[in-house]
Amino acid sequence: MILDTFKLDGKVAVVTGAGRGIGQAYALALAEAGAAVATVDVTPAEATVARIQALGRNAKAYAVDLSGAETAAQPLIDRILANFGRIDILVNNAGIIRRHPFTDHSAKDWGDVLAVNLSAPFFLSQAAAKAMIAQGQGGKIINIASMLSFQGGILIPGYAASKGGIKSLTMLMANELAPHGIQVNAIAPGYIATDNTAPIRADPARNQAILDRIPAGRWGTPDDLKGICVFLASPASDYMTGATVNVDGGWLSR
Ligand code: NAP
Repeated sequence: MILDTFKLDGKVAVVTGAGRGIGQAYALALAEAGAAVATVDVTPAEATVARIQALGRNAKAYAVDLSGAETAAQPLIDRILANFGRIDILVNNAGIIRRHPFTDHSAKDWGDVLAVNLSAPFFLSQAAAKAMIAQGQGGKIINIASMLSFQGGILIPGYAASKGGIKSLTMLMANELAPHGIQVNAIAPGYIATDNTAPIRADPARNQAILDRIPAGRWGTPDDLKGICVFLASPASDYMTGATVNVDGGWLSR
């Protein structure tokens, strides 16, 4: 039956940035659908893990700074494999944003954002894909894009470049990993109320301008993204790969 294809019983998911915001919703959604979940944050996501364990699912928090993913990714994946036995789903959600005008944007802000938002998904996906290929049962990798994968925005050159890049990387990974039964897609959230967007929600003029452009007439919530995450993590999406799916209250249609 169709709803059975959305179930994740017996699957092991890795979710980065699962301690708060959108990543916490992804981790809970995957657990509600049946998966065990390894969370990866700078500050271990103990509250998320407790909520997953309360659902009766296995969960464990890993404290890793993904700005050093080039060296941290493989040891992290090895530890998760040792603890959980396998990896079926990777959600590259952790992300940061720095807001300064283009001409004043520092090399540090540029480098920090690219490291977490683009390089970390590259290195983590590389390590996870090798594990999935060795398991021989396919897998699912979900990257997190943005409206800035489609638009330039203002004040956020590093973020826009990282989110444009993640859309392209998603397509390349989809092409190369398809023969192994691994599907790679990206979710492009619209404007979602989290810590990441608190500064623009606190600016009355900017907040109103954004609201006026969203056909749904409201900011999104992390819970608005749970359905697409489970779909892309599950066999229900097995013929879908290389896509970047906007979940934006209609923003891009406007
Ligand atoms: P958030 O509330 O600011 O949470 C960011 C998460 O990423 C936290 O759990 C944080 O962990 C983790 N993180 C940040 N830097 C890290 C690092 N160096 N190593 C490991 N973990 C790190 O962000 P959000 O709004 O939920 O956004 C989640 C994702 O969705 C991001 O990729 C973001 O770009 C994307 N997105 C958000 C929106 C939106 O409107 N909010 C829209 C489009 C796309 P700690 O708590 O340990 O710092």
